[in-house]
Amino acid sequence: MRVSYSPQRPTALLGPETLPGPFSTASLPGPLPGPFSGSFPGFFSRAVAPVGILPPQPTRPYDVIVVGAGVAGLAASKRLRAEGKRVLVLEASARVGGRALSDNKRFSVPIDLGAGWLHDPKNNPFLPFVEKGGTAPANSMFTQLLFVNGKPATAEERKAFDRVHDGLEKALQREARAGHDVSAGALLDKKERFASSAGAVFGAFESAREIDETSVMDVGIFGAGDDLFVKKGIGNLIEAWGKEARVKLRTPVDSIHYDEGGVVVRTKTGEVYQATTAIVTTSTGVLASGAIRFTPKLPSETSAAIKALPMGLMNKVIFEFDDRANAVFAKIPDNTGAIFHDDDGAPVAFVLRPHGKNMAIGFVGGENAWRLEKLPVKDLKALMLGKLTSAYGPTLAASVKASTVTQWGKNPFTRGAYSAADPGKADARQTLADPVAGRVFFAGEAVAGPEDNGTLRGAYRSGEAASKRVMAQLAKDARKVRLPHHPALIAA
Ligand SMILES: Cc1cc2nc3c(=O)[nH]c(=O)nc-3n(C[C@H](O)[C@H](O)[C@H](O)COP(=O)(O)OP(=O)(O)OC[C@H]3O[C@@H](n4cnc5c(N)ncnc54)[C@H](O)[C@@H]3O)c2cc1C
Repeated sequence: MRVSYSPQRPTALLGPETLPGPFSTASLPGPLPGPFSGSFPGFFSRAVAPVGILPPQPTRPYDVIVVGAGVAGLAASKRLRAEGKRVLVLEASARVGGRALSDNKRFSVPIDLGAGWLHDPKNNPFLPFVEKGGTAPANSMFTQLLFVNGKPATAEERKAFDRVHDGLEKALQREARAGHDVSAGALLDKKERFASSAGAVFGAFESAREIDETSVMDVGIFGAGDDLFVKKGIGNLIEAWGKEARVKLRTPVDSIHYDEGGVVVRTKTGEVYQATTAIVTTSTGVLASGAIRFTPKLPSETSAAIKALPMGLMNKVIFEFDDRANAVFAKIPDNTGAIFHDDDGAPVAFVLRPHGKNMAIGFVGGENAWRLEKLPVKDLKALMLGKLTSAYGPTLAASVKASTVTQWGKNPFTRGAYSAADPGKADARQTLADPVAGRVFFAGEAVAGPEDNGTLRGAYRSGEAASKRVMAQLAKDARKVRLPHHPALIAA
């Protein structure tokens, strides 16, 4: 059976044969309203990324419709196009790159609002795309400096923190290697004074969820290696890497109908497209919200996998200071990670002096991030600045020259920072990778392996893997189409 679609609305059904040549912005709706138009420069407002001219159009539907032009969607579409497949990429926002997003305007250097580090650079597919000398070593574990209740830790306090932190790290690795998919919090002695901050290094700051809600498999095998900052911004790097992919921007997908004949994809902008397969790369936050309606409903195991991979939240609060802060920053090595333990509250973390600048990138994660995202932006800035001034003195408060706050939880196209498996459910990532009816394929950071989940590399690899699965399916379909010419049939 072929995919059915309404014959009464033939002009609305767009295959490659009816799509206007260049994807132009002229016919597209204006910027979508969103809570980030202020704090996410460029997310909705940037001019549409460069797009190419479509080649002469065949009269068949697309082979693949890719939903989302983040790293996973771009990786999948690049691979499929290189294999000669007809691909349409539909992206809800006004730019490519998704959660890789640089702020190029507010600060004296590009600052990443989403992904900030290239993890495990030797095995990172994006390192070759960084220009020579364009990276700087970074310590993403936040533990170089420790502040306790606003003051530098004493030697005793440091020792006590390290004991809990290092013990937890070892236990996580041991249990993960043994395949014990339990709560990471179960390995933490909660009676220890520094349990909250040592736990947050692996929970709130790494998996963006509380340590009790974090699967050992998500953090115990995670292959962080040495991390690198990208001087010109990871968001800029990914946009440049993805720029040759033809993407229809500002086109949120509304529903996907699938059956054995293929898929019909409808957008909120009123367009309808058909294809043989679809690769859906939106976050599990978007999937769980029901923003994309699937008909028929997704199989129960797929829905359960989405539910088992909820989004954690990590937000950044970024400050740049003027020359009055020189004396403070002169004493801090570039890219220093600092954790602020609070006996009575949730810990926060900072990267101090990123790129050698008078800057501080603050991090709030897990439950604390969801709670603080509800505050007015100025209150969150004041809270984080208060942490810095308690540690480094009031000059910092007087010398702020630029600041911003991310709100990834309120972003309708992500609904969180990245996925974190419920303890005991880490294999949901694999389940989500299983094709639905040979028509709908999922990719994205949530569909990545234990050493990769929640990362750019994981998203890239999942996009590549989904494109291979799609190609296998297309090859299978092609064999089916040739069936009438099978010798046995001709003989009959
Ligand atoms: C604060 C933060 C810090 C991070 N730090 C790091 C880090 O240091 N290193 C690292 O490797 N990773 C980091 N990550 C994670 C990394 O950014 C993600 O894993 C990766 O970018 C996800 O790529 P993706 O393609 O899976 O998803 P996305 O980038 O979310 O791409 C999905 C795309 O789908 C679009 N979309 C949504 N809904 C629809 C719809 N209905 N129709 C069409 N399109 C839609 C979205 O707009 C988006 O462009 C961080 C993320 C955040 C938020």
